[in-house]
Amino acid sequence: MSAKKSDSDRKNHLQARYEHKIKILDEGGEQAISHSIKDIRRITAALKRLEEGQYGLCCNCGVPIAEGRLDAIPETPFCTDCAKQH
Ligand SMILES: [Zn+2]
Repeated sequence: MSAKKSDSDRKNHLQARYEHKIKILDEGGEQAISHSIKDIRRITAALKRLEEGQYGLCCNCGVPIAEGRLDAIPETPFCTDCAKQH
């Protein structure tokens, strides 16, 4: 199990992913671009939740999202169970 990350670690991670997705908008093909736009929306929403102190809670059921999941997909709005339904 990984150690809990600080908000600033999460923010740095989200911002790095944001920059990466923006780069795809410049260089990617049509499909990559439409994926990136979705991801950018999720990343922006996650940064907002971080500012509001709501980060890491599932947007559907409100349970804390597993740290390992946040490490892999920091912009995810859903816990593992809810992600299966969306
Ligand atoms: Zn959930």
